[in-house]
Amino acid sequence: MSNPYLDLDKKIVSEIYTSSEPMENLKILCDVYDSRFPGTPGDLGSVKYMVKKLKEYGIKDAYYEPFKIPGWKRGPAKVSITSPIKHDFDCISLPHSIAGEIEAKLVWLGEGAVDIYEKRKDEIKDSIVMVSSANPPGATRSLHRTEKFMRSILAGAKGWIFMNQYPAYGPQTGGISPIVPSISVCYEDGMFLTRTLEREGEVKVKIKTTDKNMDVTTYNVIGDVPGTTNSKEYLVVGSHYDGHDISQGAVDPASGAVTVLEIARVLNMVKDKLKHRVRCMCFGAEETGLYGSYAYTAMHEDDLKNIRFMLNLDAAGGAGRKGVRLHDHPELDEFMKKTADELKSPFPFGHGVGPYSDHWPFYLKSVPCGSGGDIDAARVSTGRGYGHSKYDTLDKVELENLQKAAANYSRFLLRVSNAEKWIARRKTKTEIDEFIKKQGYNETVQLADKVKAYVRTWGEIHPDTADWLNRKSDW
Ligand SMILES: [Zn+2]
Repeated sequence: MSNPYLDLDKKIVSEIYTSSEPMENLKILCDVYDSRFPGTPGDLGSVKYMVKKLKEYGIKDAYYEPFKIPGWKRGPAKVSITSPIKHDFDCISLPHSIAGEIEAKLVWLGEGAVDIYEKRKDEIKDSIVMVSSANPPGATRSLHRTEKFMRSILAGAKGWIFMNQYPAYGPQTGGISPIVPSISVCYEDGMFLTRTLEREGEVKVKIKTTDKNMDVTTYNVIGDVPGTTNSKEYLVVGSHYDGHDISQGAVDPASGAVTVLEIARVLNMVKDKLKHRVRCMCFGAEETGLYGSYAYTAMHEDDLKNIRFMLNLDAAGGAGRKGVRLHDHPELDEFMKKTADELKSPFPFGHGVGPYSDHWPFYLKSVPCGSGGDIDAARVSTGRGYGHSKYDTLDKVELENLQKAAANYSRFLLRVSNAEKWIARRKTKTEIDEFIKKQGYNETVQLADKVKAYVRTWGEIHPDTADWLNRKSDW
């Protein structure tokens, strides 16, 4: 089959493979601006740096858009067994934990399968619950930390411990809602706790957290590679740039953010051959609640109907094949097959969508979208590995993976931008609801409302919890 893009492909691929630009950018994002966690000095610093780079690449009107979000500042946290033995552990608070102190009996729920919270409700009431980050064996979908947290709260937990499933990776972080003191422990300390519980029958644990929930300003970075047509239609390619505060967030997300910058650089070099504008974005505050993408879809609501396609490249420069998980667009299969054939590089694709990254707010607003990655590898994945731990550092990222990602996705976007007839369907609200249901995420989506209604019945509520309850929307 002939490849109508062969000359452009050669230009793009040779440019990418004779440059170390994404690695140079990654070094600055990680080693100079650290975690880029919302509200930290590295947040604004990294945003200004990314805008400067986009301008250097010829995207003169690149800019950043500020918005306010519920921020959070970590304080020291402590956890100890208080009876029948005395033992102190290292721990970290989970983002959005309230400051507080709670001493209660420990309930260990293992991987925290969906049905266990209701079954063990009597035990869980007023206790401190501990669950592992591992997905429950036999579960048909991945059970996210926030779901385990919300189900624990609904069953009456007054403190929460998240235990890393991986040895030697320290505690794993991740946001929850500001309701009870919530912490994370490493695998080894978690195992000690479970052994003590097994031996003693009952164990009392005390958690003390000193964190702060407060509003902060964070940002979305926006740079447009112009198209040659006058049409209003455009594409969005994006990755969040914020990492968790304990980590450089090098693979997740910075490897994705520098891939977006690289795509901007090379697409701008062929812009006279690009039909529709490609908006390159780095989203803020994904880790603590998809705030950047929610903010964008709210602030640009009138414009969303003009988006041909949104490609989310969260953590896209890690190891693995660089394909696309379409968020349920079988009508694009022919287009994808043809693209895969022309790229002459592995480009696996399939269908599915989950609510845990920046494509989600776009998906909910009927924008056709997809996520970078390897759908086959994702199916057999057992979890995050060193992701969301302090070990997600620059030394884990390889230039060739960044190049592979940039080479595949820039050429994919070129084809989406230039497709004569773009046939991706905009889903109706009903179709979206039905698809969410089919994937088993409908309950997850409703859980947050249930938790809010339940917490409202509590007599005493922490001021941070009250703020959270009174917030109008989730961003
Ligand atoms: Zn991410």
